[in-house]
Amino acid sequence: MRLPAWMQRRRFATGLAIAGLSLVTLAMTKAAEQHNWLTALEPTQEAAEKSAEQPAPAPPEPCPAPATPDPLLGPRTKEPGSWVGRSPVQTNLPIVVMAGHADSQGTASSGTPGYAVDQQKRPPMQPGIRDELFWNRAVQAAVVSQGQARGLNIRSYTPPSISIPDDDDPATNWSQAKVFSERGEYVLEIHFDAYRPHGFGSGLIPVLANVRELNLVDESLAQAFGRFPRNFRGGLGGPRRGIGILEIAMLEPPLETKLRDPSTREQTVNCLAERVVSALVQGVS
Ligand SMILES: [Zn+2]
Repeated sequence: MRLPAWMQRRRFATGLAIAGLSLVTLAMTKAAEQHNWLTALEPTQEAAEKSAEQPAPAPPEPCPAPATPDPLLGPRTKEPGSWVGRSPVQTNLPIVVMAGHADSQGTASSGTPGYAVDQQKRPPMQPGIRDELFWNRAVQAAVVSQGQARGLNIRSYTPPSISIPDDDDPATNWSQAKVFSERGEYVLEIHFDAYRPHGFGSGLIPVLANVRELNLVDESLAQAFGRFPRNFRGGLGGPRRGIGILEIAMLEPPLETKLRDPSTREQTVNCLAERVVSALVQGVS
């Protein structure tokens, strides 16, 4: 059957267009090939010296994406809460990051020694303090520096001594948190949970009902890390004074191994901090 004249014209036009496109693509590919070939043949003197002096650093591995089970954090808390944080917050919400157990070394609440020290009899990361405080401090520092780089109104608080016997001393995390929280600042204390079977897993233990309503930052952290019941263990001292306790993860392998290995330490701490900071940024946006 013969096609009507208009259909023939259209077929011809389409054929032309395809042929034209192929020619353009071919020309572009040729040009690119030639360009690469030229640069490969003629490196500048400067570039040659540079590559001889310092080999290109390997690009940092991307942080493991959140998943269930989570390749970075391990399990979320085995005892989850059901609260939802709904109160809006200001974009410039002041955020204060504390290291858990920073003022209670040598007391009954000095933090977990971790699996490596307790079960494998490895030396502590730093003599005189529990490994939990060592890692709490490392994550605290990374969260504050990454948070500032991402535009958060964030700072740290560090007590003047690692052992302050009186909880009500004005310099303790608890006393400072009460002051900060009462003036509307968001106080987050970094913790690692005990290893299994003692630990619960990662998650946020939010402030108690006497402090304030739960807000979008609480919600965002809970979505990233998991949520403990609001009245966990009958209400802890920190949450009673305006501290949100963030259990990053249980201090056990494989995370603890990656933290202790000097070749993976910095990257691991940075990835943990990135989870916290991303949640904070999302919470205030
Ligand atoms: Zn702790």
